[in-house]
Amino acid sequence: MKFATKAIHAGQEPDPSTGAVMTPIYQTSTYWQREPGDNKGFEYSRGTNPTRKALEDCLAALENAKYGLAFSSGMGATDAVMKLLAPGDEVITGNDLYGGSYRIFTKIFANYGIKFHFLDLSDPEIIREYTNEHTKMVWIETPTNPTMQIVDIEAIGKISKEKDLMLVVDNTFASPYLQNPMDLGATIVMHSVTKYIGGHSDVVMGALMLNDENLYKRLWFIYNACGATPGPMDSFLVLRGIKTLHLRMKAHCENGRVIAEYLKTHPKVDKIYWPGFEDHPNHEVAKKQMRDFGGMISITLKDAHLAETFRIAGSFKVFTLAESLGGVESLMNHPVSMTHGSIPKEVREKVGVVDNLLRLSVGVEDVEDLLEDLKQALG
Ligand SMILES: *Cc1c(COP(=O)(O)O)cnc(C)c1O
Repeated sequence: MKFATKAIHAGQEPDPSTGAVMTPIYQTSTYWQREPGDNKGFEYSRGTNPTRKALEDCLAALENAKYGLAFSSGMGATDAVMKLLAPGDEVITGNDLYGGSYRIFTKIFANYGIKFHFLDLSDPEIIREYTNEHTKMVWIETPTNPTMQIVDIEAIGKISKEKDLMLVVDNTFASPYLQNPMDLGATIVMHSVTKYIGGHSDVVMGALMLNDENLYKRLWFIYNACGATPGPMDSFLVLRGIKTLHLRMKAHCENGRVIAEYLKTHPKVDKIYWPGFEDHPNHEVAKKQMRDFGGMISITLKDAHLAETFRIAGSFKVFTLAESLGGVESLMNHPVSMTHGSIPKEVREKVGVVDNLLRLSVGVEDVEDLLEDLKQALG
């Protein structure tokens, strides 16, 4: 099945008890058993729920994976992956990560004896240098948040396989419409479903997709034992959102391109980060592994200190100043004070997360209105 058909149908059959075409919201915590242990496949909704199950099968299909697991947030999904590790294990990861990923690695799992190496992965060969007998996992994000670096998934997949490391790819920024890491050698794909997959800024959710049955069993055990699983109402909302994922992504990419091109020559814009430009340092890798370049764009403002950046960030009328991304509405984010506040100044500035950086999540409104808004705010 092709992507658009999977987005609309995967995991979803007419409901066996009524024929309802849309998956019902099974708002129940528990299930009847004929006699102890004899049930219809569902026992207790922390572990299994039919609405969530339909969603998980759909999520797996979108990433060309066998198994899907939904979590109550992207961080809940990340937490479950890290619990595959034991004290003494080491993880290789990128130097430009979602702030919350950096925070859970350094402030939570480092305390449990797991060691993280934050590296510039633009040359994947660096992984070999940092791999030793304790290294168990490579965790990457691409495009990175917020500076849109592109990491070569296939090249890292090859090294990971050779060194027997799990490769986890946070595919939130690309969405499964633009990029499928399982096809490029990933062991696990992670998503903040809150963003493009949900797509309407009304649900917080995370997901893991994978092929390995053993690993799926271990992750399902963690999911059920630790309990960061989403409820049926949220699962329903995401199933509904996914049905237009392909249409939304096309529109995000179209609008993103128009806006990136407008900003590239704007006198108030200093640097611009968008992988669709031919002079982006990893453009060739982006072209190879992504179907299009998406609607996430970051810019630095010319001659702007923090106060001036704040003034501009607050003067948009169609773009909403808010954290998060990937919804139908355009959002404007100031990473230093919002999403990346938990990363120390010297660490973030090294990769370009500076005071005058703004990150745009270009929505699917009429692009003329978005251009007009940028013109007046940057004016
Ligand atoms: C938002 C985000 C997360 C965290 O997901 P939540 O759903 O907010 O918990 C992880 N990675 C990336 C790239 C994100 O943008």
